[in-house]
Amino acid sequence: MSHLLSKSKYIRGLQCDRALWLDVYNPRLAKYTREQMQRFDRGREFEYAFKDTFPHGIDISVELKRNVDAYPELTAMYLDKEEEVDLFEAGFLYDDVLVLADVVHKNADGTLDIYEVKSGNVLSETYRRDAALQHYVISHCRPINKFCVVYNGENRFDTIELAEELEEQHDEIARNIATMKEILSHGEPATPTGQHCLEPYACPYQHYCAQGVRQMSLFG
Ligand code: SF4
Repeated sequence: MSHLLSKSKYIRGLQCDRALWLDVYNPRLAKYTREQMQRFDRGREFEYAFKDTFPHGIDISVELKRNVDAYPELTAMYLDKEEEVDLFEAGFLYDDVLVLADVVHKNADGTLDIYEVKSGNVLSETYRRDAALQHYVISHCRPINKFCVVYNGENRFDTIELAEELEEQHDEIARNIATMKEILSHGEPATPTGQHCLEPYACPYQHYCAQGVRQMSLFG
């Protein structure tokens, strides 16, 4: 089943409705700076280093590559087996939102331990929002035993368990998703530029919005 939203699109949507719309319907307009690309690379290296601590992990992305809509089915196949298993990039779909969990350990009783890996030095508000969406989607698919965010704090892999805190945000997340679906059912929003274009992330559509050009709506 295909998805409408992903974690990155949801986070984009919290920053700006127009950026969300562009991410879904015209992502080729995005332009990332070299510094942003280097930050992505550093994040991936940190994530790979953490994954190395699970030597028997099965990487769903290696098996399915860019066919992300097939991730939930293959993930479910592994999770439905009797034995414990470690999965990387495990896919879960709920409420038209697809999330890929960095590391999932399935326990003997069928519950999941989730590890979301972030390369930053502090547990930022954006990391918490990101984790909250993951928890919302995954907990509607499988029982969660613990949900941990791993970050590059005082120790290399500092870990904080957030399941209880994240559960309390489910109603707000459901409302946010409904709002984003509504935005995506119309034409491109005419949102003006402002301070929100820079926080919490520098928006990759700034050059486009600065031109004052507005794409024709896909819906006529
Ligand atoms: S540049 Fe600003 S207004 Fe344009 S999409 Fe990005 S955040 Fe939204």
